[in-house]
Amino acid sequence: MKKDGKIWIEGIDNELHGETLSSTNLRDSLKDKSSIQILPEVWVVKIGGQSVMDRGADVVLPILEELVEAKQEGVNFILCTGGGTRARHVYSLGLDLDLPTGMLARLGASIPVQNARMLQLLMAKHGGIMAYPEEFEKLPFFLNAGCIPITTGMPPNEFWEKSSAEGVIPANRTDAGVYLLGEFLGAKGVLYIKDEDGLYTDDPKKSPDADFIPEISAKELIENGQDDLIVERIVIEYMQRAENVKSIQVINGTKRGNIKAAFQGKHVGTLINA
Ligand code: ADP
Ligand code: MG
Repeated sequence: MKKDGKIWIEGIDNELHGETLSSTNLRDSLKDKSSIQILPEVWVVKIGGQSVMDRGADVVLPILEELVEAKQEGVNFILCTGGGTRARHVYSLGLDLDLPTGMLARLGASIPVQNARMLQLLMAKHGGIMAYPEEFEKLPFFLNAGCIPITTGMPPNEFWEKSSAEGVIPANRTDAGVYLLGEFLGAKGVLYIKDEDGLYTDDPKKSPDADFIPEISAKELIENGQDDLIVERIVIEYMQRAENVKSIQVINGTKRGNIKAAFQGKHVGTLINA
């Protein structure tokens, strides 16, 4: 049957039928819809690549120990990995060879997987299990079985990574992937474990006089125009459209006790609020 010159099937007519889905009027009429929280009791945690993994056993093992303790005390979390130095090496080679953003994103995606594999092996006896993005539907099973799902932080955009406002390096790297995963899952919170106490007015490694910022809104942080951040800039942009994860915390994992305190909702690093 045809209606308004278009094929129309009785029974599947709906408010989107015949729409291009690009109409701003249609978008405004759908604005108030909210979505379900899929895993509202589960934390999404990133272990830094450059900031944690690349520092080796001295830094990594105590962090894993604290995470296992938290797990044994009943905290449920998904562990995600960053890339770090090896990712920076491949980005710099790619830049030298004039490779496009999509290729850099594809190359950069391999490294966090290596880090995830190492963490999985180290945590195997405590239930560490690799969770590839294709297996995310199994996350509830892994969690209910008492496992610690470990996955790459990198979003699977690869060739489809959008051109970046900041240049050729993909804007969506592992901090972004971790935030978006938490937002999708409607997670309890997103926690970044790094090697500094949180956000400063500048990179404390390069500017020892930089001031610590204990808490800041995403809007203020974009507006203050500071040169460098402890999380990928695009995370701050995404936070302004947050539906679920309206606050993230960046903590120093090298200080024992911070991870468990953060899981208890304590303010031990920098809070960035939507
Ligand atoms: P990860 O491996 O977790 O992605 P990065 O090395 O990309 O970590 O980012 C964390 C690092 O960011 C810190 O170790 C710190 O040296 C640097 N950094 C840059 N700007 C800032 C800032 N404004 N405040 C705090 N740290 C910053
Ligand atoms: Mg980083």
